Amino acid sequence: MSKFYEYSICELNSLLLKKEIKAVEITESYLKRIEKLDGKIGSYLTITAEEALKQAAIVDKKIVNGEKISVLAGIPLAIKDNMCIKGIKTTCASKILHNFIPPYDATVVKKLDNEDYVLLGKTNLDEFAMGASTENSGFKITHNPWDLSCVPGGSSGGSAAVVAAREAVAALGSDTGGSIRQPAACCGVVGLKPTYGLVSRFGLVAFASSLDQIGPITRDVRDAAVLLNIISGHDECDSTSINKELPDYTAGLGDGVKGLKIGLPKEYFSDWVDAEVAVCMDSARKILENLGAEFIDISLPHTEYGVATYYIIATAEASANLARYDGVKYGYRSPDYNNFLQMQKNTREEGFGAEVKRRIMLGTYVLSSGYYDAYYLKAQKVRSLIKNDFDQAFSDCDLIMTPTIAEPAFKLGEKTSDPLKMYLSDIFTISANLAGIPAISIPAGFAKEGLPIGLQFLGGAFSEDMILKAAYAFEQATDYHLKWPK
Ligand code: GLN
Repeated sequence: MSKFYEYSICELNSLLLKKEIKAVEITESYLKRIEKLDGKIGSYLTITAEEALKQAAIVDKKIVNGEKISVLAGIPLAIKDNMCIKGIKTTCASKILHNFIPPYDATVVKKLDNEDYVLLGKTNLDEFAMGASTENSGFKITHNPWDLSCVPGGSSGGSAAVVAAREAVAALGSDTGGSIRQPAACCGVVGLKPTYGLVSRFGLVAFASSLDQIGPITRDVRDAAVLLNIISGHDECDSTSINKELPDYTAGLGDGVKGLKIGLPKEYFSDWVDAEVAVCMDSARKILENLGAEFIDISLPHTEYGVATYYIIATAEASANLARYDGVKYGYRSPDYNNFLQMQKNTREEGFGAEVKRRIMLGTYVLSSGYYDAYYLKAQKVRSLIKNDFDQAFSDCDLIMTPTIAEPAFKLGEKTSDPLKMYLSDIFTISANLAGIPAISIPAGFAKEGLPIGLQFLGGAFSEDMILKAAYAFEQATDYHLKWPK
């Protein structure tokens, strides 16, 4: 039994408990795999091999001493490089943070630490999580493990790629408009964006604060539930974090979909959905019907305004959040200046990439006097309409099923010259962030060239247990999640 990278969190935990393997062996096996593969895939920005082995050894000692261990103890994970980890570089894939070493842990990291997880490293992303292909990273490109000429999706492309390539058991990503689900779909893994407020954002470098959420990227649904159990919950350090009794997300996984009413929004099944994606959605519907779910047609009439609304609100918030990178407090400072203003200008000019600058300009514009009402205020109103669409829908159905993306992963370079085309990759995922509701992407089939296709379930606020249950039922009836790239 040498291929430890074939096992999920839960499988590894049971092997550890039975003392059939050692945590150090698991970590060593992953480090070897990273060494072998990551030169081609390019998903890690930082690899923390030494700390990982030390942490694994601590877990082995606990097991030998007969101490009780957590389900996550000794499990090697990867974390998107926009979450702070004390003492470890956190760059957001931006030159402006190339040397930033946080003096504190993000709350999610603290929670994982309390369970004795093993950190393998920090993963690549689009700079400040702005993008849908990971090509906007200030440092390198990440390739899709299923086809190295394709993008892994984004912005959590590194996190999705490491899970698909078995370079980590699971990973954390962040999702502002689709950045967990879209790369999960492109890479054939599971990605969950929780309800806004369920997972603390403290220590997540802010992109658009009213939309950002951290969530798990895993190889199966049970692992997603396990990680959600650990990372969710109230946090005094995040004023938007909800204080609420939460269920054990693994408890109801096996309850099945019998009697569940699933809505199919007509706006998401339009002509421009790729034919192979449409076939997968059809077959998913049949599978779920066989399991006892009922389907109804619904409408989310403001869907077409989602992308425009998102790119006003997200850029407005980004322009404010990114004002802090000024060369004074931390991060990059241009060496080239004669006075304070010039230092700030040059720092931002040299430190930010093109997409980040585009968004700062857009965001500043929509917030400026004279345009605020026409753009920002209007977008906030449309955001309410989009949320109302969902409230209305969930009075008719329990869940909504859609494709996660309209087409399988696209080629590297295919959309880089046309930002609008790139923005449209998130058309099916953006609305969940605007409405603050949870959504999951799970593997639902493959296109002819072998690229994975993702299916999305959306639910009302705090219905994670329900979407996980439906996702698990579908997963148990199929074997897409068991396939992984050669
Ligand atoms: N692709 C979207 C964007 O570029 C969403 C990114 C995200 O969810 N972080 O903003």
